[in-house]
Amino acid sequence: MPTTLMIALDGATHTILDPLMDDGTMPFFKQLRDGGARGVLKSTDHPLTPPAFTTMITGRSPGRHGLLDFIKGEDDGEQVFFTLYDARDNRCETIWAIANRLNRKVMALNFVMSTPVAPVCGYIVPGMTHWKHLRRHMHPPEFFEKLKAQPWFDPKVMCWDFDHMEKAISAKPEMAPSEWVRDHIARERQWFQVMRFLMKKDPADLMAIVFDGVDKVQHVCWDLMDPATRPAHPDAEQQETLALIRQYFSELDGFVRELVELAGPRAQTFIVSDHGFGPFIYTVRLNQFLHEQGLLFWKDGEAADAEGLNLDWSRTVAYCPTQSSNGIFIRVAGNGRPGIAPERYDEVRNGLIAKLRELRDPENGQPVVKDILLKEKHFAGPGGRLAPDLTLVLVDHGFVNTSPGARIVERKPQVKGTHYPDGVFLAHGAGIRKGANVPTLAMVDVAPTILHSLGLPIPSNFEGRAAVEAFEAEWLAENPIEKGPPAREETDSPATAPAAAEAASEDAKKEVYEQLRALGYIE
Ligand SMILES: [Zn+2]
Repeated sequence: MPTTLMIALDGATHTILDPLMDDGTMPFFKQLRDGGARGVLKSTDHPLTPPAFTTMITGRSPGRHGLLDFIKGEDDGEQVFFTLYDARDNRCETIWAIANRLNRKVMALNFVMSTPVAPVCGYIVPGMTHWKHLRRHMHPPEFFEKLKAQPWFDPKVMCWDFDHMEKAISAKPEMAPSEWVRDHIARERQWFQVMRFLMKKDPADLMAIVFDGVDKVQHVCWDLMDPATRPAHPDAEQQETLALIRQYFSELDGFVRELVELAGPRAQTFIVSDHGFGPFIYTVRLNQFLHEQGLLFWKDGEAADAEGLNLDWSRTVAYCPTQSSNGIFIRVAGNGRPGIAPERYDEVRNGLIAKLRELRDPENGQPVVKDILLKEKHFAGPGGRLAPDLTLVLVDHGFVNTSPGARIVERKPQVKGTHYPDGVFLAHGAGIRKGANVPTLAMVDVAPTILHSLGLPIPSNFEGRAAVEAFEAEWLAENPIEKGPPAREETDSPATAPAAAEAASEDAKKEVYEQLRALGYIE
């Protein structure tokens, strides 16, 4: 039976990886690229980690699967309440579950939004989980004891550390970028060792892992990594950070080499990213814009709440809940609820679109809004219920800012990194074409490609296609694309969560909020 290795690099982009392959930092990736197939993998319309990864592993767009952001706001009419999205919000069957019911064993390590964890034949170790909750959030739970018996295993290093995160928050940067990179080197070593341990002791048919340090390092250190902004004469701290970034990618190259070798010569390896990366130039204060339009009101004299918002819900009729959403929610009145009159919805929304398109770079007068996504078009489907009415695509693909401020649009004092649509697709191994350039793929194409690699039929309700250009003609002749029955999709309750799942505890929520704040997803 064929073995498939799926290595997801959160936020990986060809513009960063290619030079590292060519300058000798990532010699094994160079082998994979030159001896395999390569292409651009486009992210979801809004290139954010939770929706993009969920699309990657379900083959369905966000309007179908319903996992749209890190934080979910629900309007009870009086005010908006915030909770964390989790695996229960995903309405569509994952490739782990699909492969399982077709008798394939799986392992999935460090994927976000995996909790509460769904039992599978194989292993799931969730990403973005506090180390204190790791034991009860992994499957099977007893696997934690096996890991604990390993001398190298340290859950505090593998998971994000709360105290460390607080230091890294950009508003009070007590943690130097070099320390940030060093932490992520140590984290990736942990995840790599878990994967290697499993591949040696109990391999599966589909073996998948996320290395998310790529995203984290690029968020904080983009200005050093991009030749356009790299300082000509880096100071001592910058030199140290640059050396550690090189070490990070060099170690990642070694990890992937060892995993590919362990998978054996008959395996197929796919390297994919949930989105690309690029320079983050503008601060766009979206709630300040809505305030100036007379649609949003701040609460007087009160500290911001946990989400970083400080809104008077009795008067606010349009708001942006999270920086990561890039979205505007419009509240529609009814039954005594605050909001705009239903018959004015189109007029208000069209007015906002026109005004947003007028927002300009104060220095060169160029528009800063590249596109505006409509809920009914870009989040069509039952999973789009909680999507924003409008989602902004900025010219720098940056996330918006939710805080008040004197100016709506400003250039950031220092260029940071942010998510861009063009991510990475590399394929290598038995039956994979050598030196092939694959046409641009969509995120919905990953799941059918992985299932096809496993020798499984592609569910009829999948929205994408297998990346046939990545496979050799002879291999495809022996392994033709097969269509199968539809994958499960829930009409009411999500597919993947166990019935007894519990809500995230307050400290787990606080932990995630600190992570999101450090990365600029919330204020
Ligand atoms: Zn990501």
